[in-house]
Amino acid sequence: MIEIYNTLTRKKEKFIPLKEGEVKMYACGVTPYDEMHIGHARQAVVYDLIRRYFEYSGYSVKYIRNFTDIDDKIIKKANNQGKESKEISEYYIQQSYIDLEKLKVKKATHESKVSECIEEIIQYIQVLIDKDFAYVANGEVIFSIDKFSEYGKLSNRKREDLINTEESRNKKNQNDFVLWKPSKPGEPSWNSPWSSGRPGWHIECSVMANKYLGEQIDIHGGGLDLIFPHHENEIAQSEAYSGKQFAKYWVHNGLIMIDGAKMSKSLGNFLTVKDALNKYLPEEIRYVILIHKYDSDIDFSEELFLNARKRMAYFYTTIDKLNNLKEGSNEPATSFHLKEKFVEYMNDNFNTSKVIAEIGEIFKELNKMIASGSYSQSTIDDFLKEFREVSSILDLFNEDPKQYLKNLKEKVLDIDESYLNQKIEEYKRAKENKDYSKVDEIRQELKDKKVSIQDNPDSITWEMIF
Ligand SMILES: [Zn+2]
Repeated sequence: MIEIYNTLTRKKEKFIPLKEGEVKMYACGVTPYDEMHIGHARQAVVYDLIRRYFEYSGYSVKYIRNFTDIDDKIIKKANNQGKESKEISEYYIQQSYIDLEKLKVKKATHESKVSECIEEIIQYIQVLIDKDFAYVANGEVIFSIDKFSEYGKLSNRKREDLINTEESRNKKNQNDFVLWKPSKPGEPSWNSPWSSGRPGWHIECSVMANKYLGEQIDIHGGGLDLIFPHHENEIAQSEAYSGKQFAKYWVHNGLIMIDGAKMSKSLGNFLTVKDALNKYLPEEIRYVILIHKYDSDIDFSEELFLNARKRMAYFYTTIDKLNNLKEGSNEPATSFHLKEKFVEYMNDNFNTSKVIAEIGEIFKELNKMIASGSYSQSTIDDFLKEFREVSSILDLFNEDPKQYLKNLKEKVLDIDESYLNQKIEEYKRAKENKDYSKVDEIRQELKDKKVSIQDNPDSITWEMIF
C-alpha cells in the first residue's frame, strides 16, 4: 500500500483514494513570464513521477497542472516590451514544453490556463460572496479569513503568526486576500459584476481544480514555498465554496538551492533549464533530481553534477556490458528482487533515492560477476527484465547505452574523436622512439581537452576526465 507524507496532518498516511482505483491530482504550475528554472523542472519531474507510479500501481490517474497565464509579472513584461500579455505567456508556455520534453516529463491529463477559466472564476467568486465568505469593496472582491474558522490549518499558523502578503486599502483584516481586482489601463481585463478586472492568484487554482477534478481531490501538490499563503488560501476558498474537504493529501516538494543559497535571480545564482541543458545531459539532471527524496531540498553544485556524470557513465557502461554478455557459467540462478524493492521504497512516500541506491548496490554485484565470469545467464536475463520495467517508470537508464555514452563523449570532450585517435597514434610512436618530451606534450594537450591517456602494459587507451 502506498504511504504519503501529508503536510495537512504532518504525518505519513496510507493512501486511500476518494474513489477506488482512481487518483485525482492537482499540482500548481508555472507563471509563464520567463524561462523555466530548475526548481520548476524539479516540481514537474516529481509530480510526473508520482503520477507514473500510481499508474504503475494500477490506478487511473487524472492529473491537472496549470499555467498561471494571468499575472502581474506577465503584464509588466508585456508592457516593457510593448507586447500583448498573451504573446508573452504563450511564448513561455511553449518554451516550458520544450524544456520538459527534454527532461522526459509527460504532459498532464490536462494543462489548464487561467485565461480559459474566467467565466468559472466569476461564478465561483459569486458563490463565495453569496455565502458571506467574501466581500466587495471599490471593485475588489476580498476573502474574509475571519469567516473561515480553520484558516491556518495547513501551514499550522495561528492568527498572530499570519503575515500580510498582499497590499490593498480595501481589506477589513490585513490578512484577508484578494479574489478579484479592477484592472489598470493597459492591463488585460474581463467584465464582472464588481469591476472590469482580473482574478487574484489563489482563486485561480481553486477554480481550475474544481473545474477539471471536482470539489474534492485526492492529492494537491506544489513546492514547499507555496504552503503559505497560496495553499492555505486555496483550502479556505475551496472548502468555503463546497463545505467539504478540498484535498485529502497535501504533498510538497523541496526547493533548489545553488551552492548553499536559495536560488534567486537578484543574487545571480539562478539556473534556467536551458542553461542546465547546455552544461549537462538531460538524464544527468533527472538523475540529480531523483537521487534526492522529493521532499528534501537539493543543493545544486558543480560537484553534485560531476558526481552524477560519473555515476550515469558507470550505470550505462554496466548496462552495455550486461546487454553484450556471452553465455554465463553454470552458477545457480539468483534474483536481486529489484521490482520488489522498487515497490517497497516507492510505496514509502515515493523514495526514489532508495531505489537508485539499491540499483547502485546491485550494479556493484553485477560488475563483480562480470569480472569473475561466474554468473548464470538466467540471473542476468531476469535482472534485465525487472530493471527495464523499473527504469521505464523512473525514465532513467532507459536509453540505448551506446547512444548515451556517445552523447556523453560529445558533451564532455572538447575534441573530435578522429583527432583524438590520431593523437593516440602519435603518442604510441613517440613512446616507441623514446621521445619523452613529445610524450609529455601530447599527454598535456589531451588533458586540457579532458582526456586522460591510460598507459597499460599491453595497450594504450584513453578515458574521459570528468
Ligand atoms: Zn496553485
